[in-house]
Amino acid sequence: MSLNVALVGNPNVGKTSLYNRVTGSFEHVGNWHGVTVGSVTKSIVYESETVTMTDLPGLYSMSVYSFEESVTRDNVMSAENDLIVNVCEVNNLARNLYLTLQLLELGVPIVLAVNMMDELKKQKKVFNSSRIEKELQVRVVPMSAKYRSDSMHLMDAVMKSAKDKPKRIELPYLKKLPLDKVRNIISENLGLCGLDGKWACLKVLEKDKYVCEKLHLNEKQMNKIDALGDWQSKIAQYRYEYIDWLTEGAIVSEKGGKQKIYGFNAVDKIALNKYSALLIFFLVMGTIFYLTFGLIGKLLSDGLQWIIDTCIAAPIGSLMEGSGAPEWISALICDGIIGGVGGIIVFLPQIVLLFFFLALLEDSGYISRVAFMTDGLFKKIGLSGRSVFTMLMGFGCSATAVLTARGLEDKNTRIKTTLLTPFMSCSARLPVYGAIAGAFFLGARPLIIFALYVLGVAIAVAVAAFFERSVKSLKSGRSSFIMEMPPYRMPTFERVFQIILSNVKVFLIRIGTVIFAFNVIVWVLSYFSFTKGFVPDGSGSILQTVAGFISPVFAPLGFGNWKAVTALLSGVVAKEIVITSLQSLGGVEAIFIGKYAASAAVAFLSFTLLYTPCIATLGAIKKEIGKKYVLISLSMQTIVAYVVSLVVYWTGVAITEFKQTAWIFISAAIGIFLLIAVIMSLKQIFARKRCKGCRLSSCGKKGVK
Ligand code: GDP
Ligand code: MG
Repeated sequence: MSLNVALVGNPNVGKTSLYNRVTGSFEHVGNWHGVTVGSVTKSIVYESETVTMTDLPGLYSMSVYSFEESVTRDNVMSAENDLIVNVCEVNNLARNLYLTLQLLELGVPIVLAVNMMDELKKQKKVFNSSRIEKELQVRVVPMSAKYRSDSMHLMDAVMKSAKDKPKRIELPYLKKLPLDKVRNIISENLGLCGLDGKWACLKVLEKDKYVCEKLHLNEKQMNKIDALGDWQSKIAQYRYEYIDWLTEGAIVSEKGGKQKIYGFNAVDKIALNKYSALLIFFLVMGTIFYLTFGLIGKLLSDGLQWIIDTCIAAPIGSLMEGSGAPEWISALICDGIIGGVGGIIVFLPQIVLLFFFLALLEDSGYISRVAFMTDGLFKKIGLSGRSVFTMLMGFGCSATAVLTARGLEDKNTRIKTTLLTPFMSCSARLPVYGAIAGAFFLGARPLIIFALYVLGVAIAVAVAAFFERSVKSLKSGRSSFIMEMPPYRMPTFERVFQIILSNVKVFLIRIGTVIFAFNVIVWVLSYFSFTKGFVPDGSGSILQTVAGFISPVFAPLGFGNWKAVTALLSGVVAKEIVITSLQSLGGVEAIFIGKYAASAAVAFLSFTLLYTPCIATLGAIKKEIGKKYVLISLSMQTIVAYVVSLVVYWTGVAITEFKQTAWIFISAAIGIFLLIAVIMSLKQIFARKRCKGCRLSSCGKKGVK
């Protein structure tokens, strides 16, 4: 016998964790919702039977808003599943059961997995499932996806339920509804649509758009349904009343146990406070960047560089010399391959560190708070709170982040979020920053890299604001997304390790395949000429001739030389190739020279950050929002990159030339900014005081009691 089982539940209840645990997979888990955007499937053998598990995006209700939610609804309604594991979170049981009731209304066989029991235990509370089990006539499995033994208990319940198929039950509140009247109105349409009759009547009474469209109801029928009255909110109320009764006494304190053990509300008071939130965010990120690119990261990278130099480059170099190999072969191996690929491998420890810290932030729930803080701003510039998730994912890899924009319900918001995500600095650009900032600003390297990340975000926000004001055709509709804050959770070693491992794997595979191959191609084209064959200094090489044509365009940015242009062109394939090319073309110090070398280097870094997304990302953009936007993305980013780099370069030149005057200007600007910030804060504080006693939610100063 083979069995198809789907995991269905609200977002962030632990479906993917459970899926990974049961199937031994490594799908992305995160302490926020919207992490899973498509379905994934894997078969396992359990008690000598093949069980095919499907993990699905989360949803709150069977009346769906977004594309990803519709993936789940369609899966639930298809005849594919033998059983549905409805995953709930014990701390949010009442809200989660709202979906459970809807699954039971539809009549699909379910097993109820009540997850995160470990958290309940910490709160010294116990869960009693007997009333729920008896009334809903389903198996209820209290569990924690953290523990393998619990997932096995769940699998036992799945196997039992698959055999004795839970019967469809009559939910008591349905009797209060005029479903027969609805059936009379829509009876002709019911036979044609293949939907379950009783469920379709209920959904029509709820005015569910999807079902009404499927039934092809005409205006006359809709008017008759309207005449029955407004049942939408009543149905929701009946469900919640029933849930209240079901869960009465389901969660109780252990005898003598304390009710509350988490002191995190206090943490949130500071972490989400209007005034301290930004400061804390910059402190947290600043520390991460300092540790990753300064203190620890540099030490580890230097160690790795030393190992590569003494254990690989030196012996191979002398072997080449001794063996009398032709000059071009030894140059290719020593400079091209070891210099290029080795030049990027040394950044592996820094990539591991960055993902380690980001995994901690993500799994603890802090990233969700960052999204929460920025939600207001994002709505103002025509994006949705959900866009924040996609853009944060962009710090990992733009190509995969773009796919997560699918979750956005509004088409225009989806297009804008997709176009803006590549401005976020992906991890492939990191080795470029590391090498160049390391060469020109050793002590200030973490600061320069942090500034580049901030620049990417600032440009994305500015472009979004431009779209919102000036491009009418991309105006967003109103977002129905409600931002929800998960509790702080202790990150587990296993998940942090998984996140690091999967990213390191991707990095190493890219180095071993596309980066290696392109590095060799770029090297050969840079040191061979059509007429003279091997040219040790690259003069007259194929690339010098080609890139030399374009390089004057970059002269105003300070890096109008063919080597820099070659690196940028090859970086379109994958951004890491920018640095492997620079390394194999003689190293960064040989490329940015002269009085304004440092300014040119920073302008080059800004350009690398902002110019056209890599091929994989362009492919993802084409797949998600269409060919037209590939062209828009490519040209928009390159133009923005050019303008910003121009400003950066000439600002750098001005600072070099007029050091003292420039610093006076900069200090004055910072001073004025701080003064305005202080005045605004004082104004807010005094305004708050005046508002004391006001409890109106429309007052705009919420939380003032
Ligand atoms: P999904 O959105 O339903 O797929 O949820 P995820 O599997 O992505 O998990 C959401 C968050 O809950 C992650 O931070 C998980 O580490 C955490 N989580 C999942 N299951 C458990 C559990 O049983 N106990 C605890 N304490 N945390 C869990
Ligand atoms: Mg998930």
